[in-house]
Amino acid sequence: MESEIIEIMNNAFKIIEMCDGHICSRCLGRNFSKTVQGDGNLERGEYVRHLLSENAPEVSSEVSSEVSKDLVSAGSPNPCYVCNGLLDEIDATENSTTDKIIKRIDESKIEFSNFLVGCRVDPEILNREKEIHDALDLDVENIKKEINREIGKDLSIRLDREVEFDNPHLVVMVDFKNENIELQTNPLFIEGRYRKLVRGIPQTKWPCTACKGRGCERCNYTGKMYLETVEEFISKDALEMTNGTSAKFHGAGREDIDVKMLGSGRPFVLEIKEPHIRSIDLEELENRVNQHAEGKVEVLNLKFVGKNRRSQIKTSSTDTYKVYRALVQTEGDVAKEDLEPLKSLDVIKQRTPIRVSHRRADKIRTRHVKNLEFKRLDSNLFELLIHCEGGLYIKELISGDEDRTNPSVSQVIGIPAVCKKLDVMEVNI
Ligand SMILES: [Zn+2]
Ligand SMILES: [Zn+2]
Repeated sequence: MESEIIEIMNNAFKIIEMCDGHICSRCLGRNFSKTVQGDGNLERGEYVRHLLSENAPEVSSEVSSEVSKDLVSAGSPNPCYVCNGLLDEIDATENSTTDKIIKRIDESKIEFSNFLVGCRVDPEILNREKEIHDALDLDVENIKKEINREIGKDLSIRLDREVEFDNPHLVVMVDFKNENIELQTNPLFIEGRYRKLVRGIPQTKWPCTACKGRGCERCNYTGKMYLETVEEFISKDALEMTNGTSAKFHGAGREDIDVKMLGSGRPFVLEIKEPHIRSIDLEELENRVNQHAEGKVEVLNLKFVGKNRRSQIKTSSTDTYKVYRALVQTEGDVAKEDLEPLKSLDVIKQRTPIRVSHRRADKIRTRHVKNLEFKRLDSNLFELLIHCEGGLYIKELISGDEDRTNPSVSQVIGIPAVCKKLDVMEVNI
């Protein structure tokens, strides 16, 4: 008899002895996943059992004599010492674990095209399994891996959906200890651009500073500083269409409340948590948002993206290129030639502005003005079109921010100037 077969039988005897004869074929076969060929651990276990019953009497001298062969013949699979019948539930022909999962999925009405199965099992089961692995010095897969794979295979066939390891739409978590099936839906990500056509709307939700969002007299019990936000205009319809639980708005930077966002708009990614429906019609979403937010906010270029876009879009830095249009008012009259020095604005050293210093680290940034055009509108009023690197604070570029921005518009024209209106014309990332 080949030495490999003898080793398999020897190990099988030891395992069966440790289980006092009670071990199911899957739990037995799992110990031989690296040494016995076969289509799954059930087949391996049955093969090993067959091997023992065929050969045990005649090879008694070759296999460990300390092992009582009675254990093998008397060994009944149930209740399994290792899994305590858990794996029978998976293989059951009626009311199996897969049956229960499918019922849960049907009830949930969650739409998905791929999934992944995970499980929680009683730590006692894992301990008993480890006992065997340690005693025989085995390096084989554990029961959780087998459960996940077997249910995954079964579900995939019965639902005609793919198993996806990296970024599944749905995670089916089977908790055997508490007899519970949890369905976790991974977020859906939609990228697009928005235009903000009016001033006075913040990009994202802004809780009332007096009550911190709980609702008070000052905010008329809305909990909000502003009733309308770009975020809410977009997420409201998206949540309705996907039937998600909540949405998170990730913008590629943000403009101030009093600043319009025009041109081709600002990129954003909308993250929808626990969507029930993923395959929504983005053109319809676009139309709905643009109808509800008409004249205020507009979305365009919507598309589905992976979750990596969420962080990519937030890395706003000097890589981004922006174009602003500013209406500038000066304290005194300026002649046309007084504006000529504006052409010299190039490298700007900007210390964190006073107005954001409470929430941003105090440091000096260097940013480039790439191009600047100006148009005199009145004796104390002119318009600027500024092409610059991302991260340059435009209001401070104009005022000088008490010399914290250097050089500035006020400085080069030699007269204090302030930004009266600001529009973002382009955001390129
Ligand atoms: Zn078992
Ligand atoms: Zn309030």
